[in-house]
Amino acid sequence: MSDPNLIDPKVFADEKQALQGGFRLDELDERVWSHDFFADRKSAVSFTLQGGQDRLHRLFLDLTVKAEMPLVCQRCIKPVPFELNDTCRIFLFADEESLDEAMLADDELEGMLLQDVLDVRSLVEDQILIALPYSPRHEDCGNSALDEVNRDKPNPFAVLAGLKK
Ligand SMILES: [Zn+2]
Repeated sequence: MSDPNLIDPKVFADEKQALQGGFRLDELDERVWSHDFFADRKSAVSFTLQGGQDRLHRLFLDLTVKAEMPLVCQRCIKPVPFELNDTCRIFLFADEESLDEAMLADDELEGMLLQDVLDVRSLVEDQILIALPYSPRHEDCGNSALDEVNRDKPNPFAVLAGLKK
């Protein structure tokens, strides 16, 4: 496999392999970069993936996703800084039955079925979408909005004075 982001999840977890890498948002799937919230589609996202096995001999992948990506403020539609730094553990199950069983026993658990080839990109994509705030906003849009108006537009009184000349 030449693409390092394509892994065999069973081998990866079994051998406690590790992988790190990064993408720009626009290198990911359309369902990510086309999301209305992103103010800059060139934002860089980095990840680390660590395979392992827990006490119950269940295989897992620990995924950490980090990024500093400006989002679009849902109140004033100007960029608002957003820092993503999330880790999740994804358990790997050989069949649907054991996956369902584990999910029933623990509703916090994240699990997926083993597959021969797993694209790490899709894990990172899911994690980004899950981590997005419900409605990103500045704490105080008013101030920055006023700054912008004052800088971009001439003083209305100056304009009036000009008309009178
Ligand atoms: Zn705002």
